[in-house]
Amino acid sequence: MEQKFPVPPLLKEISGYFKNAGFSAYLVGGAVRDFFLKKEANDWDIATDAPPQEVTRLFRRTIPTGIEHGTVTVIYKNKHIECTTFRTESEYIDGRHPTAVSYTATIEDDLARRDFTMNAIAVSLPDGRIVDPFNGRADIRAGLIQTVGNPLDRFLEDGLRPVRAVRFAAQLGFTVNVNTLAAISQALHITQKISIERFREEFTKMLACPAPLTGLHLMESTGLLKLFIPELIACRGVRQGSYHRFDVLDHSFLVCNACPAGMDHIHIRLAGLFHDIGKPAVRKEAADGSCTFYRHEAVSEKMTRSIMRRLKYSNAEIDKTAHLVAEHMFHYDYSWTDAAVRRFIVRVGKENIDDLFALRKADVFGLTDTYTELYFLVEFTARINKILKEEGVYSLKDLAVNGKDLMAIGIPAGKHLGLVLHDLLETVLDDPAQNTKEALLPIAAALYERIQRFQ
Ligand code: ATP
Ligand code: MG
Repeated sequence: MEQKFPVPPLLKEISGYFKNAGFSAYLVGGAVRDFFLKKEANDWDIATDAPPQEVTRLFRRTIPTGIEHGTVTVIYKNKHIECTTFRTESEYIDGRHPTAVSYTATIEDDLARRDFTMNAIAVSLPDGRIVDPFNGRADIRAGLIQTVGNPLDRFLEDGLRPVRAVRFAAQLGFTVNVNTLAAISQALHITQKISIERFREEFTKMLACPAPLTGLHLMESTGLLKLFIPELIACRGVRQGSYHRFDVLDHSFLVCNACPAGMDHIHIRLAGLFHDIGKPAVRKEAADGSCTFYRHEAVSEKMTRSIMRRLKYSNAEIDKTAHLVAEHMFHYDYSWTDAAVRRFIVRVGKENIDDLFALRKADVFGLTDTYTELYFLVEFTARINKILKEEGVYSLKDLAVNGKDLMAIGIPAGKHLGLVLHDLLETVLDDPAQNTKEALLPIAAALYERIQRFQ
């Protein structure tokens, strides 16, 4: 018997609106693919012969998301559904934008303009009949990514598609068909022209998936990595002395892959990828063959910021990533005093400690490609938690005195007041019991007097 798609009730209701007005509607794209992969779909895309103006008229709540491309978002019972009118994009002038979008009559034409066979399957609504003119289901079963039609033509039309091929390969654990793979390297001059935001979106989705390692290797072997992050290519072949089995690039790939997955952890994955990117610039080799990379973390931090700015990540994302890169060489010793642990917490920020430790675990994993229990991290974590729980850790804003209190005892606003506050924080980090007004005000007065004497 012919396979049918179990259409959810909400989609049946929505398709009723199209039907009643004399139009057809199909579920398309990722949701159909994910069904055959037995995965939960994250969003619904509908293809229809109704022109965008009609879609807007049929539903009470709509957003003209990309009305010039025929896309209207319908909001129905709190779900967002993207509805796109069947279309063909005949000519592209520059590998970025179709010159004209023309609407076509059939779902088959619409499927023919989609990127990969696995993404070119439609489900007729509401009956669940499957339309699969390019054997997408067979490719899904085989775990194969291939373009609809001639790969080079399709990549020259839209230079983002090669990046999507690599992203899907990592995300789904699929293989890229040989001809499709070869075409990626032949279309680099077109891929080079895509907007950096479109690249970043696909790259980020790739980094968030459970195992981006194959995707990173594919990006390197096809030439995509050199196009967008050439700084990483400079890490290829950079040896690190006898402690390391891998060169800087393989190590970086492994560390990135071993960091926690998911969109919430994307800054850790990026830090894993970039933490050693400053190494080629500072590498020194001694006569005995050993290597040093003096202060490479500072160079890596700078480079991370400049790469992420170029890729147009948000400032918040850049700061979080760069901070992890800058701190990734942290050292801890069992002999540390509580005051030293408190200083560490203040420097790193308590909200970043879990992320930094996750990065360190991944970093050690990337030395040998095997998991090692890091007992020092277990002990360090216990000490940090005990301090956070029992006494709290102080930053400037937690001090029992503030700028106003200091001005009230005669310290004028300005640089000196800032210096005194920082000194008070040091006092409290050494001995949290001193964090009272009674204790701190006399210390502040004495500090200020000393500063004035040295003026
Ligand atoms: P995800 O689960 O990541 O959202 P998806 O397949 O739904 O995966 P989208 O970017 O949401 O990916 O695109 C929806 C559909 O639109 C795709 O399945 C594909 O059919 C088509 N599509 C998207 N981008 C392109 C493109 N650059 N060229 C051709 N078709 C595309
Ligand atoms: Mg989608």
